[in-house]
Amino acid sequence: MAKKEKTPSQTPMMVQYQKIKDQYPDAFLFYRLGDFYEMFNEDAIKGAQLLELTLTTRNHNSDNPIPMCGVPHHAVQNYIDILVDKGYKVAICEQMEDPKLAKGMVKREVIQLITPGTNTEVGSESAKSNNYLTALVADTSNHKMGFSYADIATGELKAATLADSNDLINEVMSLKTKEIVVNSTVSATILDQLTKIGILVSHQEEVTVKAETSYLMQGLENKIQEKSVSLLLTYINVTQKRSLAHLQRAVSYEPSRYLKLDHYSQYNLELTQNIRTKKKSGTLLWLLDETKTAMGARLLKRWLDRPLLSKAAIEDRQNKVKVLLEYYFERSNLQDELVSVYDLERLAGRVAFGNVNGRDLIQLKTSLQQVPKIKHVLDTLETPEFDEILKSLDPVEDVAVAIESAIVDEPPMSVTDGNLIKDNYNDQLDQYRDAMQNGKQWIAELQASERKITGINNLKVAYNRVFGYYIEVTKVNLSKLPEGRYERKQTLTNAERFSTPELKEREQLILEAQEKSAALEYTLFTDLREKVKLAIQRLQKLAQVISTLDVLQSFAVVSENYRLVQPQMTQNAHDLQIVQGRHPVVEKVMGRQSYVPNDIRMDPQTSILLITGPNMSGKSTYMRQLALTVIMAQMGCFVPAESAKLPIFDQIFTRIGAADDLISGQSTFMVEMQEANQAVLHATQNSLILFDEIGRGTATYDGMALAQSIIEYVHDHVHAKTLFSTHYHELTALEDNLSELRNVHVGAVEKNGELVFLHQVENGPADKSYGIHVAKLAGMPEELLNRASDILSRLEEENQGKTISAVTEPRKQLKINEEAQEAEKPTTVNEDEQLSLFSEKSVDPKSEKVLTDLKTLNLMSLTPMDVMNLVNKWQQKLGK
Ligand code: ADP
Ligand code: MG
Repeated sequence: MAKKEKTPSQTPMMVQYQKIKDQYPDAFLFYRLGDFYEMFNEDAIKGAQLLELTLTTRNHNSDNPIPMCGVPHHAVQNYIDILVDKGYKVAICEQMEDPKLAKGMVKREVIQLITPGTNTEVGSESAKSNNYLTALVADTSNHKMGFSYADIATGELKAATLADSNDLINEVMSLKTKEIVVNSTVSATILDQLTKIGILVSHQEEVTVKAETSYLMQGLENKIQEKSVSLLLTYINVTQKRSLAHLQRAVSYEPSRYLKLDHYSQYNLELTQNIRTKKKSGTLLWLLDETKTAMGARLLKRWLDRPLLSKAAIEDRQNKVKVLLEYYFERSNLQDELVSVYDLERLAGRVAFGNVNGRDLIQLKTSLQQVPKIKHVLDTLETPEFDEILKSLDPVEDVAVAIESAIVDEPPMSVTDGNLIKDNYNDQLDQYRDAMQNGKQWIAELQASERKITGINNLKVAYNRVFGYYIEVTKVNLSKLPEGRYERKQTLTNAERFSTPELKEREQLILEAQEKSAALEYTLFTDLREKVKLAIQRLQKLAQVISTLDVLQSFAVVSENYRLVQPQMTQNAHDLQIVQGRHPVVEKVMGRQSYVPNDIRMDPQTSILLITGPNMSGKSTYMRQLALTVIMAQMGCFVPAESAKLPIFDQIFTRIGAADDLISGQSTFMVEMQEANQAVLHATQNSLILFDEIGRGTATYDGMALAQSIIEYVHDHVHAKTLFSTHYHELTALEDNLSELRNVHVGAVEKNGELVFLHQVENGPADKSYGIHVAKLAGMPEELLNRASDILSRLEEENQGKTISAVTEPRKQLKINEEAQEAEKPTTVNEDEQLSLFSEKSVDPKSEKVLTDLKTLNLMSLTPMDVMNLVNKWQQKLGK
């Protein structure tokens, strides 16, 4: 194929364009051309499509017209946001000199690379959540990964050491990062996984950490974390090309210090995103968010992503909520004060970037002036709970005072055109202003005196940008002008414009004063900005304290509105007693009157509740209710119940059944097994497992066998608190054999010929004849229903014995095998028995292969599910 040749007609501008574009192959290059940012070639074709712009061409008469499209410079942010939102990068290429003054080609440079993870200019709704840029490096020698993240708008910077790709996926999913920076240490498999879940992977090989940012890494735990942060900082430097003074010192964190929730669970439980609408409405976050500031809203989301594990820390939050709940008036005063606090974190970020204007500083001042008022409210609480917060609330008064004395109350957007510094702030500025004022006064008087001298009543003294001050006389009156004193400046159709030596002199003075005063104002402004910059760390600390207060008051409001109570937290007690608990979101949506509260009771001797009941009776709701209650409690919030005693859980695993599965197009049964496997492998006795109708995605016996073996495995080996709902009624018989399992069911009754769901959870297994019952209600013929009843009882008779015997035998075998393994005698009576099964018939090659597999199998390395899969494979081999 012929290579695209450089056409001789390529203009110097296109040569410059191409040179710059080559440095940013993976970004849209927005090339500044006068009042527009232009895109060319591939960028233009793709950009026009994505941004709905008209595609034109440059040099359209030549052989190789260049595709082109552009956006006006004043609206550029919208277009950047659209592209970045879609996961693309945008390189902003500016004119670095005034085109009027430039000799030859105007110099151009990329001043910023905006990427999904570094975009800070986002709308007010998105300010309610953080935009995290993440970075990953791997250490091949010990299979550890250094992971870090930063929010460029707020300066938050954290790092962790991760053990495997599971940890990684959980971190990136819960941070909702859009972009991850990697280098060549990261394996292709992991890159593949990251790309699959829609994260933009950016490669950065070279690492250069500037001296001014190296101190950010001093507190980190180990080298691999440092490497990750270095990579992150390098990438930020390379793309942002501006001050990063507001980045906070990196802090090491341990993902395991928080209640672990894998992303399946976060998704299934609809914590921050509604499964159907993808919106916040109808989620736990939606219920809990009564925050008054954007910083508070962001912190709430972080708390929801990371519920606590420490009893002391949880109780500390809950006790503060209790105080705020009790002190109604003080709380409402606190809210009033919080409303006037602007986004301190982001303001601090903009101070560091150097793109604050006068209005931002006024917002900062207003926010700081709220701090003493907030302190006063906390003072009136008369309780020790808020002492520490009170002490750490620094009003950063020096900054507030400095802004107050310098900046006018309603400054203009621009910081270079003057009118933003107060009078009496700077002597020199006051003098310039006097000169301007006097000069303008003099000019006003000039008009009056000139009219008198000349007798021309419509004589005007005025100003324009090109000609400066002038005296204007209409043509009719020209003859009245005395000779010699007036210099002609400009001729119009109906008038002439003149100047005089005195006017020129005054003009000089005024313009000079104006120019100097604007320049001086800008200098004074930047001095002030530098002063504020020194206080960035204090401002960030203040932002943290205020957002904490905001979330706590939000919890108090929610607790009051939805009648939540403080739970009693216990560590390692394994006793869970929720009296009259509710699903807070379902209750909010359907209304308090219609929701039926339920107890959830699991004493230390109970690890599994097996939940049966007809469809739509409320099984799933009951299970989710527990998960949300646990999460709310460990965030430090109150819980929806009359009273609650809760153990502190280390992890929550969920598997919501195929019937409720809305992820289409995937092998749902495979997903189901993967999720169940996560729980079986990683849960501890301090975990919470929710298995909702597991095994539904496959044939009845297959599914039931799996369900039963999963229950047994959890019962025998995991001991996690487990809610297991099932439509396999046969499983209720397990209660006889499994000492830690209890049956509960959700009741329903027939009322006036209709099946009424009571949504009431009761002890014992469900009455199982609902299917036929519903068919009857639907009006099916009597004969058909009778036949169904007959078949049902026959099946029950036949299966009763089988299922129950199947319950015990495999478990015994498993146990015997375990013992055998311990005694290091793999061949036992058991295996001989199994062999004899086959030895009666002649052994064909297929069976022999199965037998060898069976003999050489290392049972201890397999999960029950692996075994199920193997047995299935063998059965198929044997031609079942
Ligand atoms: P299942 O899992 O048993 O099929 P769901 O938990 O999905 O049932 O509940 C079905 C519907 O019943 C829910 O959408 C909800 O409207 C209602 N529901 C569930 N639990 C309750 C309750 N405790 N009080 C009132 N309505 C409830
Ligand atoms: Mg359900």
